[in-house]
Amino acid sequence: MSERIFNFSAGPAVLPEPVLEQARDELVNYQGSGMSVMEMSHRSKEFTAIIEKAEAGLRKHMGIPAEYAVLFLQGGASFQFSMIPMNLYFQGNPVDVINTGEWTKKAMAEIDKVAACRIAASTEHENFCRIPTPDEIHLGENASYVHICSNNTIHGSQWRDFPNTGEIPLVADMSSDILSREIDVSRFGLIFAGAQKNIGPSGVTIVIMQPELAERTPKTLPTMLQYRTHIKTKSRYNTPPTFGVYMIGLVMDWLEAEGGVSAMEQRNEAQAKILYDVIDGTDFYTCPVAEKDRSRMNVVIRIQNGDESLEQTFVQEATAAGLSSLKGHRSTGGIRASIYNAQTFEAVNALADFMKDFEAKNG
Ligand code: PMP
Repeated sequence: MSERIFNFSAGPAVLPEPVLEQARDELVNYQGSGMSVMEMSHRSKEFTAIIEKAEAGLRKHMGIPAEYAVLFLQGGASFQFSMIPMNLYFQGNPVDVINTGEWTKKAMAEIDKVAACRIAASTEHENFCRIPTPDEIHLGENASYVHICSNNTIHGSQWRDFPNTGEIPLVADMSSDILSREIDVSRFGLIFAGAQKNIGPSGVTIVIMQPELAERTPKTLPTMLQYRTHIKTKSRYNTPPTFGVYMIGLVMDWLEAEGGVSAMEQRNEAQAKILYDVIDGTDFYTCPVAEKDRSRMNVVIRIQNGDESLEQTFVQEATAAGLSSLKGHRSTGGIRASIYNAQTFEAVNALADFMKDFEAKNG
């Protein structure tokens, strides 16, 4: 696999090489079944074992309480922006959103279509360069739920201490940091994530929820849109994204072999530190995010405080040097290095070296 490059894509993102190799080896004939996983009935005993294994892995690694439901859905994290308010909104009880970036803005736009949405705190006036402090967050007493994004993929900020919402269910978009650090799942009413960063390939959306929240849903809602449908049928009301679910199982095995989420957390901290140390060691590079809120998953880098032409040269030369997908999100520009669980120290060190060389030539 020597032809593989260093991939810093924000998602779909780098997957562990042993996982890809195992999927390749099993692609045509899955464990002697004579079929590919892609060719199997989603109701077969083989696939039942595959989906149960993926779920068991998620439950184990995240420490998900037994009573919580774990669902494998489709439509991406974006679909959850709509599905959650359709299911969890009580008429007259607004949804409180803590606005920390483009992904909470997108969520608010969808919540607005089906519910009343209230901003409980926002750092938009500061270009989302930080997470609001606890005293800046004003939750309504009667909120249907509180929506946050645990890691802001685009702006490169990450919650350290989640807000205390008391009896009000806390809903978190963990698309870009699920399984990257230890969290207490019991503090959340619902967690959702697109799989394509830390969990597996795109096409699967994970929802982890307190099943009683699904009982809020009006039965008049279309069947596919109700969480209770998917809870009752264990994500097999219709055909789930079978290959993606299989891949998640392989990623869970890999996570186990690597020492689980606590080992990932240490590795992610260490990899992020390598890049932030380069940034902080010079005036040439800056990170626009307040130090205490910097993401361990998406490191946002500016050159000379936003010299777009130099940033473009950086990305071009990095690409030529085998460091791929470092361009910042189209809405913010700049440079962004995504260093999810499967990212290697080799890649991160190569980037750190490239940054130092680039500064020596252009600084
Ligand atoms: N939320 C966050 C935090 C994300 O990073 C993304 C995708 N980058 C999304 C939501 C949207 O995910 P999807 O493309 O699966 O709808």
